[in-house]
Amino acid sequence: MKIYAVGIGPGDKNYMAPQAEKIISDCDVIIGYTSYLKLIPDLVTGKEIIETGMKSETARCEKAFQKAKLGKKVAVISSGDAGIYGMASLLMEMSENETDIEIEIVPGITAAIAAAALLGAPLANDFAVVSLSDLLTSWSTIKKRLEAAALGDFVVCLYNPGSKNRTDSLRLACEILLKHKNPQTQCGYVRNALRNNRQYHLCSLQELSAIHVDMLTIVIVGNSDTKQIHGKLVTTRGYHIERKN
Ligand code: SAH
Repeated sequence: MKIYAVGIGPGDKNYMAPQAEKIISDCDVIIGYTSYLKLIPDLVTGKEIIETGMKSETARCEKAFQKAKLGKKVAVISSGDAGIYGMASLLMEMSENETDIEIEIVPGITAAIAAAALLGAPLANDFAVVSLSDLLTSWSTIKKRLEAAALGDFVVCLYNPGSKNRTDSLRLACEILLKHKNPQTQCGYVRNALRNNRQYHLCSLQELSAIHVDMLTIVIVGNSDTKQIHGKLVTTRGYHIERKN
């Protein structure tokens, strides 16, 4: 038996892999967080839908196993990529206790990539991805990773920069990054990347600490070679370019 862990991309169908669309169309049961299911209404109508809220990820996987054992074709969906802060790892971990269940992962465009494309070309050199959510990772670990990324002059993508109950994470993260990054480091933040109502802004690292962000926002902090060019965020790589004039 197979369960598919499908990344649907940012939400706009034009940015979903054809394979993800095909698998979802072929499946009988679609399981996912309510707001992600709302992004793909036409793909899931007429199917058995199991919607679950946040923080019920293990229940979502149990349901998937139950349905697969009944002989149904099951897709568990994540926004972006299923393997990046998504359902793929938990499904695989829980499948250790199961016999005869195989998990197939269908990748999607993750938020960092969607946001980078809107902002310009900030991920042209080495980058690190850090989630500021301390639900499953302790804040001391998050701090350590942020500091190491800053010390290494990585471009840093911050997932889960804030939520209704977590309003101070971005400011604290900026404080740590500022230990090793210049306050003028160029940054960008994107809300609803490649979805309706997308918004993006550029600012300095110093300004970033005062920005209010929510769960629909991702932040990209540049490295020492990141610049603004024609209003976009660009991490230059060191090519020699003949300048006109
Ligand atoms: N699996 C997802 C990430 C889930 S974690 C992926 O690969 O993209 C949830 C966090 O991802 C959000 O808090 C936000 O920081 C970010 N995110 C997901 N989709 C986004 C989008 N379209 N625009 C901006 N941020 C997004």
